[in-house]
Amino acid sequence: MRMDKLTVKSQEALAQSDVIARKRGHQEVTSLHMLSALAAQEDGTVRPLLARAGVSKEAVLSAIDKALDSRPKVSGADTYLGKDLKKLMDEAQAQADQLKDEVIDVNIVQRMTDSGRRVKFRITCVVGNGDGFIGIGRCKGKEVGPSIRKAIDNAKLNIIEIKRGCGSWECGCGTPHSLPFEVMGKSGSVEVILKPAPRGITLAVGDVAKSILTLAGVKDSWGYAKGHTKTTVNYAQATYNALKKTTQMRVTEDQEKRLKIVSGPVQMHVAQTSVEPASAPMEAKGA
Ligand SMILES: [Zn+2]
Repeated sequence: MRMDKLTVKSQEALAQSDVIARKRGHQEVTSLHMLSALAAQEDGTVRPLLARAGVSKEAVLSAIDKALDSRPKVSGADTYLGKDLKKLMDEAQAQADQLKDEVIDVNIVQRMTDSGRRVKFRITCVVGNGDGFIGIGRCKGKEVGPSIRKAIDNAKLNIIEIKRGCGSWECGCGTPHSLPFEVMGKSGSVEVILKPAPRGITLAVGDVAKSILTLAGVKDSWGYAKGHTKTTVNYAQATYNALKKTTQMRVTEDQEKRLKIVSGPVQMHVAQTSVEPASAPMEAKGA
């Protein structure tokens, strides 16, 4: 674990985990103490995540409290970082390292008020791990820097695990380099259609969609956009919505095998293909 690479929020949470453990007379600082610290953060990510999952904050906090109560107490001893928490922090770090973000759009909104001209920035960001995870977020504010950071935080809260596959009938390579099937997404007047493409086509889509598909880990795709695509916000949102459709579409086991459908990260550089070499059936015929 590299302390200097942790975000300010994570460092705060780690320090707070230690405080919680000390207060309760616990020697080992565990992931439970961390959870307690994270759930207590007013402006952290755990609370909005709980809200999105439809879980009551109070119920979670009291459950954590009960679990902490049942841990053994020692008086006067020093605390140490538990194995499970260290592993958790390492895993979180590895995930965070893979996550990349991109500012898709900066919109300047000007307004005249009694005291003069007021400028606000509307920022749209996307985050992705380049391997099956993608999120989009927006934020409006007076300063660019803080608004970008907040937009990235919002994008992280909107991360979805997309389905990829080899859905082009011209391909059949057996790796999830493209989309499993055609998907369509809408936002405002913009409509985006993404289609599976054979290997090597790369991303034959507009620039905004290209950024998003790259961050999502889709290597080959054909795309079409209708409507006012100059409204970058809508174009980006429509592309995200199209990718979201891959998660909502029902697939049969047969389709899953045939189209090599995978959900989320696969680390394609180590992925094995289960497809026989193209020459195999012909050799069999000749034999
Ligand atoms: Zn393929």
